[in-house]
Amino acid sequence: MKTIGVLTSGGDAPGMNAAIRAVVRTAMHHNLEVYGIHRGYRGLLEKDYEVLNSRSVSDILQRGGTFIKSARCPEFNTEEGVKKGKKIIMDLALDGLIVIGGDGTIRGGLELANEGVNVIALPGSIDNDMGYTDFTIGFDTAITTVMHAVSNLRDTSSSHGRVFVVQVMGRDCGDIALHAGIICGAEEVIVPEVPFNIEEITSNIRRAMARGKSHYIILLAEGAADPFLFTEKIQELSGINTRLNIIGYLQRGGSPSSFDRMLATRLGFHAVELLVQGEQGVAVGIRGNKVIHKNLQQAIEARDSLDKDLYQMAKILAV
Ligand code: ADP
Repeated sequence: MKTIGVLTSGGDAPGMNAAIRAVVRTAMHHNLEVYGIHRGYRGLLEKDYEVLNSRSVSDILQRGGTFIKSARCPEFNTEEGVKKGKKIIMDLALDGLIVIGGDGTIRGGLELANEGVNVIALPGSIDNDMGYTDFTIGFDTAITTVMHAVSNLRDTSSSHGRVFVVQVMGRDCGDIALHAGIICGAEEVIVPEVPFNIEEITSNIRRAMARGKSHYIILLAEGAADPFLFTEKIQELSGINTRLNIIGYLQRGGSPSSFDRMLATRLGFHAVELLVQGEQGVAVGIRGNKVIHKNLQQAIEARDSLDKDLYQMAKILAV
């Protein structure tokens, strides 16, 4: 093994840089050359890359985003796209490729692995929507960002006795809403995985206010309901001033938390160690604080379900 590539693809996530740094420095330790492929599979198809060394990854551990850039590349969803990617990997004489990204990125990695490329995937996504790993790189930072935003909103919610609906990311996966809801002490958490009843929520609000609660924060996952209609309905049914806040892309950026730096570093290191040991076609993740790897197909198929115990706990504590 002489040369490996690394790319980041799909939505960026805080900690991707920390993962690239760990990949590059571990590779240097094994005397491997590393090509940083720009803009994910788009850059691969355009043969757009730079040679990375230890100095290229100085001063990036603490930065959000990804310095080798990320992109979506519809062309790579086609058989021709994947074949072209494989040909470029052969032209570049890459003995291995580490792909960092979400579910889609790992699917792209599997397609390349099926063409004979030595692929290792790392889970980079703020959504925590991959079932084979307890946590994805970027999730902890995202919920920390939400936590700070909600702390500010809580002040105004208390001062004015208002209800705040806070929409957070998560189209299919309610993990950001649930975990942030718990660490913020939100009164309600609405996730795509569990149906909600708007009358029940509004009667909870009225009862809470009658008991003397001065604030009411509802964390609403993106995929659970239309945030505008939801907020309007809550105000209409409860008769209490209700305001909507959409946190949006603020959740995607920022300096990675200590947890994400550690996770990204451990996974990046492990990915290169696996390649050096001759392992490939796997996704690296974390289970019970141990670094694990799973075959790419199994990693994609692993069902990501909401932690029902955590959800129950959030409900009990919100009273
Ligand atoms: P994420 O990796 O964050 O889930 P996407 O789902 O947008 O983001 O996927 C990122 C990129 O991965 C896509 O733009 C495409 O280039 C590639 N990709 C996604 N799904 C596949 C697939 N089934 N086959 C090949 N490439 C794919």
